[in-house]
Amino acid sequence: MIYKRSSALFKEAQQYIPGGVNSPVRAFKAVGGDPVFIEHAKGAYLYDVDGNKLVDYIASWGPLILGHAYQPVLDALISKAEKGTSFGMPTQIETEIASLAVSMVPGIDKIRFVNSGTEACMSAVRLARGYTGKDKIIKFAGCYHGHSDSFLIEAGSGAVTFGVPNSPGVTAGTARDTLLAPYNDLNRVRELILENRGEIACIILEPVAGNMGCIPPADGFLEGLRDLCNENDILLVFDEVMTGFRLAAGGAQELYGVKADIVTFGKVIGGGLPVGAFAARNEIMDFLAPLGPVYQAGTLSGNPLAMAAGLAMLKALDRSPEIYQSLAEKTAYLHNGLDLALNESGLPYVINRVGSMISVHFTKEEVIDFESSAKGNNETFKKFFHGMLNRGIYLPPSAFESWFLNDALTYKDLDMTINACHDLVKTL
Ligand code: PMP
Repeated sequence: MIYKRSSALFKEAQQYIPGGVNSPVRAFKAVGGDPVFIEHAKGAYLYDVDGNKLVDYIASWGPLILGHAYQPVLDALISKAEKGTSFGMPTQIETEIASLAVSMVPGIDKIRFVNSGTEACMSAVRLARGYTGKDKIIKFAGCYHGHSDSFLIEAGSGAVTFGVPNSPGVTAGTARDTLLAPYNDLNRVRELILENRGEIACIILEPVAGNMGCIPPADGFLEGLRDLCNENDILLVFDEVMTGFRLAAGGAQELYGVKADIVTFGKVIGGGLPVGAFAARNEIMDFLAPLGPVYQAGTLSGNPLAMAAGLAMLKALDRSPEIYQSLAEKTAYLHNGLDLALNESGLPYVINRVGSMISVHFTKEEVIDFESSAKGNNETFKKFFHGMLNRGIYLPPSAFESWFLNDALTYKDLDMTINACHDLVKTL
């Protein structure tokens, strides 16, 4: 495939935008080469500026669970836009999407909308600190909760892809309040709690990690964290920015049957528009301004276009719970096909999968945390990524990212992907 026009546009972009992109992982630094510039997308396919058609496995990094340009979302957006795009005043649609989200997600009474997953997680932690009166938080190495200061400590996703899991610009004071444990390591969490008795406001985690590849919680890990939180007056925060409305209507809480105290959302909840949200039971949410003392605000929060897109998306998911089964089956089919193809290569590899999240790691050990994920061979991943791209398959351009399946993908698309992998492994 030819990517001439993409390369020209990238060159031009670099003159005016740092690195040519508005979010680092888009720049292909981890895999080399120039990023693909998109012209439009429909269903499971991306169409780039050189006229290439690509099967999409990132779905805008998660939001487009029903595929690109999903008609009910487009219809909702167009009719809303005709009535004005922003008022900075309350609108009924905010209550409509809030009440639907509350009915779909276990254990939450109220939800507040923001503009990104970063804002959602940042606000959730402020709320946890305000509510408990404690300062420290525990996070897990390789988990990514957005780019706010407290989280850029051993962060996953682009932060680790670019070798800056601890970003300059985060003060030592802020870093001191973020305690770190390896993912899936309950013992280390227990030790941290003992070493910092009475000082920890919350434990925040991705209940299924998606920012160091896809890493499921080990048996008993989420339950163990829940118990430790109960015993020590610590709030459990599930960052469901990736998993919310994706793994089940009620997210990872529903899938694993473990309840968090605060839940954060992004991606699917906005239907492809910039939306994040955080939610909890009344007792906690009523600590927020204007009811309570914890301040949090946003000029464009609850924006009518964003709410219209999000509402259309949640309604579609609420109406058709079978989508989750269909997505899980498609992902299992892909898993099986990739497994057969990669087996032929003789290379060590591991495939991890939960629901519609899946990742391939070129390592022989189980991938259960950041350390084991980082053992993956990046040179092989690069060849794999470009080999698939040249065969019309768009994967996340970093081994530290989960792939996201969308329900517009057909079994024909999956077969094409598996065949591309069979063809590619001969060259690996
Ligand atoms: N939390 C998780 C689990 C994420 O995956 C991301 C983004 N990939 C964020 C938070 C931050 O969301 P945003 O990029 O919308 O700020």
